[in-house]
Amino acid sequence: MTGPRPVRAPRGAAPTARGWPQEAALRMLQNNLDPEVAEHPDQLVVYGGTGRAARDWASFDAMTATLRTLGPDETMLVQSGRPVGVMTTHEWAPRVLIANSNLVGDWANWEEFRRLERLGLTMYGQMTAGSWIYIGTQGILQGTYETFAAVAAKRFGGTLAGTVTLTAGLGGMGGAQPLAVTMNGGVAVCVDCDPRAIERRIAHGFLDVRADSLAEAMDLAAEARSARRPLSIGVLGNAAEALPHLLATGAPVDIVTDQTSAHDPLAYLPVGVDFAGMADYAARAPEEFTRRARESMARHVEAMVGFQDAGAEVFDYGNSIRGEARLAGYDRAFDFPGFVPAYIRPLFCEGKGPFRWAALSGDPRDIAATDRAVLDLFPGNESLARWITLAGERVRFQGLPARICWLGYGERERAGERFNDMVAAGELAAPVVIGRDHLDCGSVASPYRETEGMRDGSDAIADWPLLNAMVNVASGASWVSIHHGGGVGMGRSLHAGQVTVADGTALAGQKIQRVLTNDPGMGVIRHVDAGYPEAEAVAAERGVRVPMREA
Ligand code: NAD
Repeated sequence: MTGPRPVRAPRGAAPTARGWPQEAALRMLQNNLDPEVAEHPDQLVVYGGTGRAARDWASFDAMTATLRTLGPDETMLVQSGRPVGVMTTHEWAPRVLIANSNLVGDWANWEEFRRLERLGLTMYGQMTAGSWIYIGTQGILQGTYETFAAVAAKRFGGTLAGTVTLTAGLGGMGGAQPLAVTMNGGVAVCVDCDPRAIERRIAHGFLDVRADSLAEAMDLAAEARSARRPLSIGVLGNAAEALPHLLATGAPVDIVTDQTSAHDPLAYLPVGVDFAGMADYAARAPEEFTRRARESMARHVEAMVGFQDAGAEVFDYGNSIRGEARLAGYDRAFDFPGFVPAYIRPLFCEGKGPFRWAALSGDPRDIAATDRAVLDLFPGNESLARWITLAGERVRFQGLPARICWLGYGERERAGERFNDMVAAGELAAPVVIGRDHLDCGSVASPYRETEGMRDGSDAIADWPLLNAMVNVASGASWVSIHHGGGVGMGRSLHAGQVTVADGTALAGQKIQRVLTNDPGMGVIRHVDAGYPEAEAVAAERGVRVPMREA
């Protein structure tokens, strides 16, 4: 059967494939396209502009059919969302190897990518769309929660109570912003040009209310700010008009960021274009649309710089909006920092990053049990405990029940082994998959985001994600992916991901131990190599071997 149709992963403890690693890949591919999970499932688009899980429906059908029959010593190869081969490997090898959206350096731009995409030769894989470990908006919620907690710690005495955050973009990733702000006690005003994005975030419990106008949004915000009451407000509008207007009228705003899909100029609504006609216009006149989108981004970023000049805390949230604004000729675009150098890098030095898992049973009680296991394993970590508790209360699952928390070197492996033991002991109804976003400590080269402003200037060195993918293959991950582009767009990043299945077997336990040690270990050694003393301390204390320090 070829063509759009509703897709939902099977639940329960009976696999339809020949082994749990294959079954897990099958369920997670299907789960990425579950209408509860994907932004535009009929187009195979999961999140992040045009981030797809499969190139087309024929490829989707071929991948699911292949995964159902794939042997425990075979590996399916996926080239930008299309299965291109099955090879005999061995039981420690990944069952799926994925390469998405990669282009040779000089060709790595949107124009060439679109040309090849139109020819049906490639697809955009984003980070977890084409690598089948997207878990809905919760995935980014935890990172966003951590980031706003760090903003609170840096500027506002440890809480966002009594502050207003102004942002835009309530899509698959950006939709996490309002809840992350209110979880930190603050008020969020979120602009989006798509009424469905606002309604969807309200329906999922990520956004509290919708205002009918900017003025109403700011009135509600001011009232909640002075009462130090958390509140998130969605408002329909174009950010490139709303932000300059709010700046000009002196709106009381303390923090400004953005998560419109600025990484892809064909997914950012230019000023003067109707949202309803946006897709047609972008398809009909991509060059003109791109020029107008970039001009609008320049006005948007100019307003963000204006807020910074007026004393607000302003940061780029990893969507390349500064780079696009600079392409449009705005020369102060990089006056505010990216969120990684501003808040996240110290965590990366400890090998900390987005550890996530999903219950293949479909039973929320499996996640509740693993939540308790995490609380039990790391009793001294207060912010982890606050997150797990709040997430248990506030996060509604999309698709298969899943959880994410940030864990560091040494911690991820302990959690993974505990989960595998729980499956073996029958404490969980079925196996779990353990993976992560490509946005991690040692798996990405992205000079506008994760590797912006590296201490040794190695921002654009892309050997690290390739080594990361290879070490995960060598360590026994169930599927491994190498992508280009991701959240910041073509030509701007290379990154890798892994997913490993905890099916309760001794073999899975050994693989988990190696993968979940070596994968975050890449983050430690990458930051040791770049000269970060925090990473050197972690390596020395936890026994991460770095030959150049052993001489
Ligand atoms: P998405 O495509 O699902 O949503 C983008 C939203 O922006 C849409 O709702 C769209 O209506 C809105 N939008 C577009 N132009 C607008 C405009 N001019 N004014 C107001 N709203 C506008 O994308 P997403 O998955 O939410 O990701 C958002 C961005 O964040 C992407 O660029 C993505 O690559 C990036 N990203 C960042 C991180 C991170 O680490 N911070 C992680 C993943 C993705």
